[in-house]
Amino acid sequence: MIIVMKPQAERQNVENVVKLVEDNGLKVHLSQGAEVTIIGVIGDKTVLMDKNIELMKDVDKIIPVTESYKLASLKFHPEPTRVKVGKYEIGPDTLTVMAGPCAVENEDQLLEVAREVKKDGAQILRGGAFKPRTSPYAFQGLGEEGLKYLKEAQEETGLATITEVTNEQALAMAVKYVDMVQIGARNMQNFQLLKEVGKSGVPVMLKRGLSATIDEWLNAAEYILSEGNPNVVLCERGIRTFETATRNTLDLSAVCVIKAKSHLPVIVDPSHATGVWSYVAPLTRAAVACGADGIMVEVHNCPEKALSDGPQSLKFDSFASLMKDLEGYKKLAGRA
Ligand code: PEP
Ligand code: MN
Repeated sequence: MIIVMKPQAERQNVENVVKLVEDNGLKVHLSQGAEVTIIGVIGDKTVLMDKNIELMKDVDKIIPVTESYKLASLKFHPEPTRVKVGKYEIGPDTLTVMAGPCAVENEDQLLEVAREVKKDGAQILRGGAFKPRTSPYAFQGLGEEGLKYLKEAQEETGLATITEVTNEQALAMAVKYVDMVQIGARNMQNFQLLKEVGKSGVPVMLKRGLSATIDEWLNAAEYILSEGNPNVVLCERGIRTFETATRNTLDLSAVCVIKAKSHLPVIVDPSHATGVWSYVAPLTRAAVACGADGIMVEVHNCPEKALSDGPQSLKFDSFASLMKDLEGYKKLAGRA
C-alpha cells in the first residue's frame, strides 16, 4: 500500500508515519515530490490494520497496491526515473540511441562501427562479448577480449558502452570495462543474476523475456530494485507469437502499458524484434511516436559477413539516414 500525505505536509508528521511503519517491521520507500510526499510500504501490511494511519496528522489517503511489484510501480514513485549512463541520461527528456554490432568480433570491426555511430549521433555503443546463442556451435563471443575493445572504443569516441552479461562471472568482469550491462531476454528470470546486478548498483537494461508477460517483466525489475539498484531501464525486444514472418512480434503496446504502470525508462529494440533490417527504421519511428525513451539497433560494417544477426543489422548508410530522420520525430516527442 501507499500512504499519500497532504500537500505541504509537515516533516515531523511524515516522520511520525514512517516511524510507525518501520516500528512494525515493514520497509518504507519515500517519494518526495514538489507538492506531495508518498510513503510506499513494503511487507505484510496486515500488521498495520489496527493502527488507524488514515487518522494521523497530515495523512491524506491510503491506496492499496495490488501488484506484486512495488518499487517498480508508478504508484510508489510517480516521477519518471532518470538513469545516468556515463555522461548520458536515459529518461523522459532525452531519446537515447544505443547502436552497434550484435557481437564484438574483433578490434577493427568494433572501432569502425563505434566511429560511425558516434558520427551519426548515437550515445551508447552496444556489443556482445558473451553471446547467448541458440546453437552451442555458433559464435559464443570474445569474452574479456571483447570487453577490452569496448573500453578502447569508449575512450576513443566518448560513447558510453553496454554489453550483455549472462552470469555472475561475466558481470564481475564486465563492470570493469563498460558503463551499463544488459540482461538478455533468455535471462530475464535468472533471479540469481538479477540479484547480483541489483547488489552491484551498475546501470542495467533488462530485456523482456521471449514469452514474458509485462507483469513478470516488472517483477524481474523488482528483483534488481529490491537489492538497492535504482538504475534500471526496460527494453521491449519482441515476444513469441504465432507469427513467423518476423523473428518475434514487436509489442509496442508494452511501451504504453509500462508508462502507465511504471516510472522506469523503456527502450525499444526493433532489430531483435523483427530480425529484418528493412523493418528497423519504420518501427524505430513508431517506437519514438508511442513514447519510448530510446532505441537499441544493431549496426555492422559488413552485415553479410557478421558472425551473428547479420540479416537484422543496419549498414552505415541506413543507420545514418535513420538518425537524420529521427531529428524531426525527436522534436515532435519533445525530447533532446
Ligand atoms: C542482443 O541484444 O544481442 C540479444 C541477444 O538480445 P535478446 O536478449 O533480446 O535476444
Ligand atoms: Mn543480436
